[in-house]
Amino acid sequence: MPSENDGVMIVLSSPSGAGKTTLVKMLSKMDSFEVSISHTTRQPRLNEVNDKDYYFVNEDEFKRLINNQEFLEYAKVFSNFYGTTRTPVIDRLSKGKNVLFDIDWQGAQQLTQAAANDLVKIFILPPNMRELENRLRSRAQDSDDVIARRMSKSENEISHWAEYDYIIINEDISEAIEELTTIVNAERMKRPRQPWLGSFIKKLITGG
Ligand code: 5GP
Repeated sequence: MPSENDGVMIVLSSPSGAGKTTLVKMLSKMDSFEVSISHTTRQPRLNEVNDKDYYFVNEDEFKRLINNQEFLEYAKVFSNFYGTTRTPVIDRLSKGKNVLFDIDWQGAQQLTQAAANDLVKIFILPPNMRELENRLRSRAQDSDDVIARRMSKSENEISHWAEYDYIIINEDISEAIEELTTIVNAERMKRPRQPWLGSFIKKLITGG
């Protein structure tokens, strides 16, 4: 997995409707972030684009990728498969980019096993459950049945909050973005993530 010079892997998890997708979209506009595009067997929503929001594949193709061991992590969420392929992530990290993962708690646990030291795990909470349901409904793309299923799964997703390094309550999107960028900037400045410091210090004290 990644070496010292690499970017940081940032996992964002939340119950559906906590505003995570909006946050990810806003962060993806910043130069230092690259969003990991997942594969899924879910049907695309109206405004979703293949190769941009997800790689939409059928179950046979997903199983082929599992068998070829191409996934860094994968999980079944709401009766569909979702997964992150390894190669694009490693390529981006080695170019020093921060890679952002919009994945659930199961994926976060698998990434922790693969690369605990390179991972920053952030959990996004809604201010209250009413707001969560409003956000799911305002998306207006899932049926009542799907929304009810997602609401009932929210509690399970939220129950994993203590497995994360940081918790953001997303009441105001611009505040949440500021909090997220603060976390990532601080994480990048951690001593082990600045491996060049040794030679800098040597020069500093020898007056070079
Ligand atoms: P949605 O169907 O709303 O796009 O996503 C449903 C859930 O699947 C979200 O919690 C999202 O974070 C999660 N998810 C999306 N991609 C992946 C992935 O590659 N791996 C895992 N484990 N979860 C994912």
